[in-house]
Amino acid sequence: MICDALPRRRLVHLPTPLEAAPILSRALGIELLVKREDLAGLCVGGIKSRLLEFAIGALQGRGIDTLIAYAAVQSNKLRDIAAASARCGMKAVLLIPEGRGADGPVRQGNRLLFDILGAEVRVIAGNPDAAAIMAAQESVRDALAREGRRAAILDRRLEYGIDATIAFVDAAEELCVQLRDAGKSPHSLFVAAGAGMTAAGLALGLKHLGSPMRVVGVSVSARAAELGPEIERHAARAAARLGIPTRLHAGDVTLIDRHAATGYGTLTPALVAVMRRFARLHGMVVDPVYNAKVALALVEEVGRGTVPAGAGGVFMNTGGSPAIYDYADMLCAVPDAGDAQRYGAAAAGAR
Ligand SMILES: *Cc1c(COP(=O)(O)O)cnc(C)c1O
Repeated sequence: MICDALPRRRLVHLPTPLEAAPILSRALGIELLVKREDLAGLCVGGIKSRLLEFAIGALQGRGIDTLIAYAAVQSNKLRDIAAASARCGMKAVLLIPEGRGADGPVRQGNRLLFDILGAEVRVIAGNPDAAAIMAAQESVRDALAREGRRAAILDRRLEYGIDATIAFVDAAEELCVQLRDAGKSPHSLFVAAGAGMTAAGLALGLKHLGSPMRVVGVSVSARAAELGPEIERHAARAAARLGIPTRLHAGDVTLIDRHAATGYGTLTPALVAVMRRFARLHGMVVDPVYNAKVALALVEEVGRGTVPAGAGGVFMNTGGSPAIYDYADMLCAVPDAGDAQRYGAAAAGAR
């Protein structure tokens, strides 16, 4: 395997399942397979757990006993850092911005899990920019050093960004093996794109292996014009570390950014409807921040014919389900159309 030479601390159950979704496939008119990164197994699953195998593997042997990171209040990254720290006997110091749900008496979703998992959570005032975030992380690291602890900062501008990309080169290779064993060659792979490391790693791995499968990255916040070059940079850093000549260029990832405008973590009635539809047609709950947008984009692309009728598709469920509980108000506020979500527009029209 491409990543075999890299240090790695095993944390998750691999390979993650690649499962058929026959009822959902019939409703969509394509043959859909679901890559269940959400079932990866560390704590509640999700893509951040696979990448921590590489991030923590690289830190092992350097005497690191504490992990520091900054992210949103409902961050999956922070939850998995808390869980991996517990698993590895380390301490986690998690920095989050002030705001709703950060530090009140009742905590929900991932924020609740940070506490249960025993992480130390520190709320950062104001609305810190990238430089302020790095400075805050460094000042925590330096203070811990004075107490005799050895802390590492997990930030995508540092080594973590390379680890996060490499982990999905590994996932791409795993997926290729699963598809070969199943005798399938899907047309497109749909995956969420936040900072774009996951999509970059998948596209780099698939390109390196000569897979013709198209990678469709569904942006949850950034415009494609910014995300595209970012993805190329992530891939170049990962390829350099892996010592492979493959590079990504514009067009290697098909970016869809029409759901980015909704904003990070904002739910619309269409997103709620697609969450219900995927749940009712496959028994799988997609998270409101990332995978609901991917599911909606997938349905729309099939409707537009960019995934040809009858072709195969892979939906990578990247995890994030604990956030659902923090969205209960918004989820409950959208009227439930019942069977229309189950059977789609045809059923709705027939009534
Ligand atoms: C972090 C995350 C993503 C986005 O990954 P990037 O590599 O930043 O694009 C997608 N889905 C879930 C559930 C995540 O936690």
